Amino acid sequence: MSGKGKESEIVLKVLIIGDPNVGKTSFVQRYINNSFRGTYKWTIGVDFGLKLIQWSPTETIRLQLWDIAGQERYTSMTRVYYKDAFGCVIMCDITQKETIKSAALWKKDLDLKCMLPDSTPVPCILLANKNDLPSHHATDKELDTFCKEHNFLAWSNMSVKDNQMVKESMSYLLKEMMRKYHTNGSKDEFSSSVDLRQKTTHKCC
Ligand code: GDP
Ligand code: MG
Repeated sequence: MSGKGKESEIVLKVLIIGDPNVGKTSFVQRYINNSFRGTYKWTIGVDFGLKLIQWSPTETIRLQLWDIAGQERYTSMTRVYYKDAFGCVIMCDITQKETIKSAALWKKDLDLKCMLPDSTPVPCILLANKNDLPSHHATDKELDTFCKEHNFLAWSNMSVKDNQMVKESMSYLLKEMMRKYHTNGSKDEFSSSVDLRQKTTHKCC
């Protein structure tokens, strides 16, 4: 809480996970700085991104993005990184089939090691990046089925390079996290996966 009476600051930790090279660091940089570079230093351990969002007249969100290298799924470190996460973005590269398959393993790992304080799953969306490139390895229909099967809250194709669906996806996730934050303790489950591209009218941050 800040010192100004009713105003509150809400800290939300969001994990950005997925195989190496799918574009996680690029995604964080695009979302926070609206920049895109062809190369980023290999993420070692964890990088942090921070964004302050005035969510309502009385609420400020301090959004922490935890961007991990992508090899941690095979180590015990994930448990440390996942601690207290309130939301998650799992990324894959639509041009690399293995990274799509891995997204299911990342989701399983997340749900095994982490949950919200009310014991419901951490809100998690799937973002299939590099949509600007040719030779996609999953159709929209396949992605939709994949997300339902693995209990993702929503999914979207995305291009960090072309700045396509970056802000909109995070905005959707934020909205779901805030809904969870406010209903704190309710046991409602997410129904079925949503195609984020049809959900771009909500408040953008
Ligand atoms: P990370 O290992 O998951 O953090 O991936 P990086 O953010 O380091 O990106 C890996 C590579 O993919 C870099 O060369 C990026 O420039 C590239 N990249 C990231 N997003 C996109 C995208 O949307 N389209 C294309 N074509 N390349 C991208
Ligand atoms: Mg990285």
